[in-house]
Amino acid sequence: ARQFTRPLNDLANQWNTLLSAIAGAERVFEVLDEEVEAKDEGAAVTLTHVDGAVAFENVSFSYEKGGDTLEGISFEAKPGEMIALVGPTGAGKTTLIQLLSRFYDPDSGRIALDGRDLSTIRRESLRSQMAFVLQDSFLFQGTIRENIRFGRLDATDEEVEEAAKLANAHSFIMRMKDGYDKMLKPDGSGISQGQKQLLAIARAILANPSMLVLDEATSSIDTVTEIKIQEGLQRLMKGRTSFVIAHRLNTIRSADRILVLKDGRLMEQGTHDELLKQGGFYSELYHSQLKRAAM
Ligand code: ADP
Repeated sequence: ARQFTRPLNDLANQWNTLLSAIAGAERVFEVLDEEVEAKDEGAAVTLTHVDGAVAFENVSFSYEKGGDTLEGISFEAKPGEMIALVGPTGAGKTTLIQLLSRFYDPDSGRIALDGRDLSTIRRESLRSQMAFVLQDSFLFQGTIRENIRFGRLDATDEEVEEAAKLANAHSFIMRMKDGYDKMLKPDGSGISQGQKQLLAIARAILANPSMLVLDEATSSIDTVTEIKIQEGLQRLMKGRTSFVIAHRLNTIRSADRILVLKDGRLMEQGTHDELLKQGGFYSELYHSQLKRAAM
């Protein structure tokens, strides 16, 4: 029986990778133009083990010729670090994530993962090492169990529950009449925004990626659920290199490095305390917006 199921598992894994890439990415990345999307070179490699060291070296990119959506971006993320991306709308935060996920390749400069040029890594292979937890996470019509299992299609029921427990999703699932067998509606009604996030966290924990992309919720979520989400995220992020498009001051404060973007340029980078001391753009942003938002 084992021999029969193995190719299926392989297929399921590939499918999962593909679906996860689409599911995770589509919301952040809006329209995905296959024509534009970065192509794999013939010699592109498949990753087996990833530590999660990321380096941007003087990276520039524009969607249109002659533009400068991102210009001269350089920074490093060590394995397991949490990097907060901060800056006004249109600053280039999403574009930076798109480059990291190889939806596009830089026009100039280099992005490296564990010292290896990203453009030499197969896209599917790269994305199987990444999970996305987004504001409006992708849930499909199916049971809660199936929605969590989407993170890794060959996971057992026990593994699904274990991930849900770590994500702090288990208790709300068990309070529902059908528990893990509850069918989610196509329009996503029937569970709250916060509960959807807990399911997305469970799914990502199950996927066990080396890198994470989080788009922090801007909508208000009740305090109890918010605490559960934060706890679940802490467990998810531990030991994984995480890129957070951050809106909450607490998140930004606890980041190992804050990248402050404006008009496609990396204005400043450092920890919260370092940046406050510098008295530059971040400090301005903090005093005018972040601090107030935290009160
Ligand atoms: P942020 O995530 O910080 O709000 P984005 O990375 O989405 O910023 O956008 C950076 C700039 O690139 C903006 O000026 C935006 O209008 C532009 N932009 C974003 N996506 C596209 C696209 N697909 N085609 C052309 N321009 C784009």
